Amino acid sequence: MIISYNSTDRTQITEHFNVSEFRCKCGGNHDTKLDNELIRKLEELYKALDCSKIIVNSGYRCTAHDKNVGGNGSGQHTKGTAADIVCYDKTGKKISSKKVCCAAQYIGFGGIANIDSTYTATHVDVRTGVKWYGDETVTTAYSVTDDFYKYYKLEKSDVYGKEKRSINVSVIVDGVIYSGELKKE
Ligand SMILES: [Zn+2]
Ligand SMILES: [Zn+2]
Repeated sequence: MIISYNSTDRTQITEHFNVSEFRCKCGGNHDTKLDNELIRKLEELYKALDCSKIIVNSGYRCTAHDKNVGGNGSGQHTKGTAADIVCYDKTGKKISSKKVCCAAQYIGFGGIANIDSTYTATHVDVRTGVKWYGDETVTTAYSVTDDFYKYYKLEKSDVYGKEKRSINVSVIVDGVIYSGELKKE
């Protein structure tokens, strides 16, 4: 459901997202349109990637501002269904947008794209219908893949952190204790 908030609204919508973060950057005093499905999914992404913060570089855009930043004036940002984000891990480092794209795919965002050459900024939106899986360093004309895990050659364990790969074991042979690490392959 898309809700309109007035320009001074400071509603904390979920634990980590405030409506003011999605305000149009044009400087005008118009309303902010925001789809609560977008916020719900961003909150899921925050938890899935174990973030310390997610910075919203661009949320809602009015038609004029969308055109000013190179859009066509009717894209997902103008509907309140999109956000350009940078995700940070618990040590304060930016999380690769390759990982963000994979996690966003798993969560079910309809539109997902890496949007900068350093692979740190990601566009996500909650469009329905045909999916958009992009990599704007390659093209903006078409989806580059139907599976980011394959496209970026990542496994679930690369995205969500590795489970413990070894366990300490001790064996007793003829009264002597042997200790060591048993590695899982
Ligand atoms: Zn605006
Ligand atoms: Zn965007």
